[in-house]
Amino acid sequence: MIVEIDEKSGFCYGVIRAIETTENELEHSKYLFSLGEIVHNDIEVDRLEKIGLHTIDHNKIADISGQKMIIRAHGEPPSTYQIAKENNIEVIDCTCPVVLKLQERIKQSYEGIKAINGQLIIFGKRGHAEVNGLIGQVDGDAIVIEKLDEIEQINFERPVYLFAQTTKSMEEFEILRHTILRRMRQALGTERVPFESHNSICRQVANRKPHLEDFSRKHDVIIFVSGRQSSNGKILFHACKSVNERTYFVEHPEELKSEWFVNCCSVGVCGATSTPKWLMEDVANEVKRMNS
Ligand code: SF4
Repeated sequence: MIVEIDEKSGFCYGVIRAIETTENELEHSKYLFSLGEIVHNDIEVDRLEKIGLHTIDHNKIADISGQKMIIRAHGEPPSTYQIAKENNIEVIDCTCPVVLKLQERIKQSYEGIKAINGQLIIFGKRGHAEVNGLIGQVDGDAIVIEKLDEIEQINFERPVYLFAQTTKSMEEFEILRHTILRRMRQALGTERVPFESHNSICRQVANRKPHLEDFSRKHDVIIFVSGRQSSNGKILFHACKSVNERTYFVEHPEELKSEWFVNCCSVGVCGATSTPKWLMEDVANEVKRMNS
């Protein structure tokens, strides 16, 4: 049986940067705090916690006064930096530069949006750290749309500025964009409507989807390795499943089932932008062992 690990799967640039910073920091310090899980992968978080990383939530920031705290790749709203400052916490900022740029664009666009009574729309997951960081740039004055059926929150007679969480699906963004445009044209009775859309989806994520579809077509069975919390993992898993029905989701090698490999000559192992390479290797080795 052939077992191939997808070369392009695994940590994206932003996550690699956050994890390397954490590891470097832990070479000099006994422990370090991370505000939220450094990556949406429990196994990688466990590995880092064994070398001194402690994950805390926002309610605990005041308890770590005088310590060092990592801000992960998703970024944070300005209020978090303010609370850290008030508590004399040294912030190690690992906000991904792509997210940072998006935060700045939203902040800069806001005055113009308000000047014409416009609405800022973020296509993203409500409560997700990145989305909280984005709406925090404008004191929460934005409409978050998770799914197409939530668009009735938008007033189609007023100007609309649309942005997206970096890990959203490109296709869903396009459907949302077209739907808003159509509804605004209907509401205003003209083709020329005050609508600006900014496709802020990270290309690292967007490019992986077509690649993974090709990879999934090549193999009889696909094992997709990811944390179940990862938004990006869910999107990429469905991309694989859409072209290869025999695609299975696992968090770790113990979840593999021998019946998945009946009448199977080739297995592809791939994962999300939050899946460590070493974990995909462990899964691939276990697949080989089960089928030897
Ligand atoms: S998916 Fe893109 S934006 Fe998000 S952390 Fe990775 S590189 Fe940065």
